[in-house]
Amino acid sequence: MKFLVTAGPTREPIDPVRFISNRSSGKMGYAIAAAAIEAGHDVILVSGPVCIPPPPGAKLIAVNTSDEMFEAVHAHLNGIDIAVMCAAVADFKPAFFSSKKIKKSGGMENIPLVPTRDILASLAQMQKKFLIVGFAAETNDVRENALRKLRKKKCDVVIANDVSRMDTGMESDLNELTLFYSSGKTVSLPREEKNFLARKLMRFFEELQEKS
Ligand code: C5P
Repeated sequence: MKFLVTAGPTREPIDPVRFISNRSSGKMGYAIAAAAIEAGHDVILVSGPVCIPPPPGAKLIAVNTSDEMFEAVHAHLNGIDIAVMCAAVADFKPAFFSSKKIKKSGGMENIPLVPTRDILASLAQMQKKFLIVGFAAETNDVRENALRKLRKKKCDVVIANDVSRMDTGMESDLNELTLFYSSGKTVSLPREEKNFLARKLMRFFEELQEKS
């Protein structure tokens, strides 16, 4: 299969030295990319800025902003069988970019924000010839939120993880996942290392591909 995986955070610049971002480490997306390569698949990895090395064998497309990630994803959809959208794309970006560093003395009482483009949702509007897997990082009402995302973003599967705990999910080496399929099926994968979870996910992705 040919995978396109997004991973890591995005950075939304305020000025040349400041940005809005989030705690995403990229570990889950990189583990998925590594597991896919291990299973013999081709992988394009569109990654925001992270501190971990890319899995050998992946075609890495490094990006910074959500707009760059949007463009990179859309430029690499050709021929893919599955898009696994694991990146923690910033939901908002500053409405204005200051090309000069904003002086502390000038104050910065508020930064007007505008929504970023939703990369995952944009995939469903394409002439869809590939499977779409979304992620849902939630702190509460995980099931309800994941199911809403599944419908709204027209995914084949949404994989939910609870990010309210410091020892699981974002930044951690561990995760606990629930897969919500558009067919109504759900699968829970108990807490373990992201690398092992990623290998398990491969089997579910391969099964989805066989049935599609
Ligand atoms: O709505 P929310 O951001 O929680 O949705 C998470 C899912 O949507 C993830 O799969 C994430 O990669 C994707 N997403 C995206 N572009 C955005 C926001 C989220 O692709 N601007």
